[in-house]
Order: sequence, then C-alpha cells, then structure tokens
Amino acid sequence: SNELKIAVGAMEIADKVVRDVMTKIEDVFMLPDTTVLNAKTVMEIVRMGYTRIPVYQQGDKNNVTDMLFVKDLALLDPDDNFTVKTVCGYHKHPVKFVMNDTPLPHLLEAFKKGEGHLAMVKRLINNDDGHDPSYELAGVVTLEDIVEEILQAEINDE
Ligand code: ADP
Repeated sequence: SNELKIAVGAMEIADKVVRDVMTKIEDVFMLPDTTVLNAKTVMEIVRMGYTRIPVYQQGDKNNVTDMLFVKDLALLDPDDNFTVKTVCGYHKHPVKFVMNDTPLPHLLEAFKKGEGHLAMVKRLINNDDGHDPSYELAGVVTLEDIVEEILQAEINDE
C-alpha cells in the first residue's frame, strides 16, 4: 500500500538530517531584492531552470526576505522595469527556515502540512567571545531532496 511505502521511506531517512541532503548555499541561485526585472534579467532567471528563487536584502546574503516564483514573471511587462522587491511585495510568498540539524522525518512532516516545499537552511555560528550565538545560511532544502534520498536508499538496498 502507499501507506506502507511511506512508512518504509520514512525509516530510510530516519537517521538523516537536513544538512545531509540540502543544496549548499554556494550552489544556490539567489537574487538581491534590487534586481531590475528587464528582458535580460528575466531571461537569465528563466534559463537557470529553478521554480523558486530566494531573494536577499542587497548587501546581506544571510538576510533572505522573500521567495520569487518564476511563474510570477509570466504576466510581467519587462518594459515596466519592476524590481524583484516590488514583485515579491505583491505576491508575498512566505519564506520558511529550518535548522541544518533537523531530522528529515520532521522536515517531511512540515512539508506535508504546508504548501511551500522549500526551506532555507540555517546554521548556528558558535561565538567564542561570549556574545549571543548567531545564524548564517547554509543552503536550501526541498521536498525533492528528501524524495531523492528515499529513492536512493531503496536502490542501495537492492
Ligand atoms: P525546482 O522545481 O526548482 O527544480 P526542486 O524542488 O525540484 O526545485 O529541487 C530540485 C533541486 O534543486 C533540489 O536539489 C533543490 O535543493 C535544488 N534547488 C531548488 N531551488 C534552487 C535554487 N534556487 N538554487 C539552487 N538549487 C535549488
């Protein structure tokens, strides 16, 4: 049954955490919120082939404020020269965050409840100087990354 398959799949990922399957931040295609959406930039964005693009505040890549969905660009007139910030302010797709040591079954549950299916991954930076700990972005993780891990585990079992 499907339920049995899901249960078996959940066991395959039981001892894995987000950092094991995420796309590392240096490989993530992100955009600063000041990007002007003209014909050239829209073409570049579409060519990258991603469905969702994290948007950060210009000058601070650790501060992801929005998600740009490529489908949001479909009805845009490139001659209007809207910025990414303007388009994101219109659609307001929520940004989800998850810690890099979150167990994959927890993330799978969260993805099943929500609609987003993509989360920004945060990592704790341990400051030795006695200040409060801070966070930096470590990558992105999507439902696809979890599904791939489940399928890979099944292939390795055979
Ligand atoms: P997409 O629909 O954009 O292909 P998926 O959810 O199918 O996204 O994920 C496919 C792979 O691409 C996953 O490994 C995911 O971590 C990665 N990914 C998703 N969005 C981005 C992005 N903006 N930049 C880099 N990698 C991404």
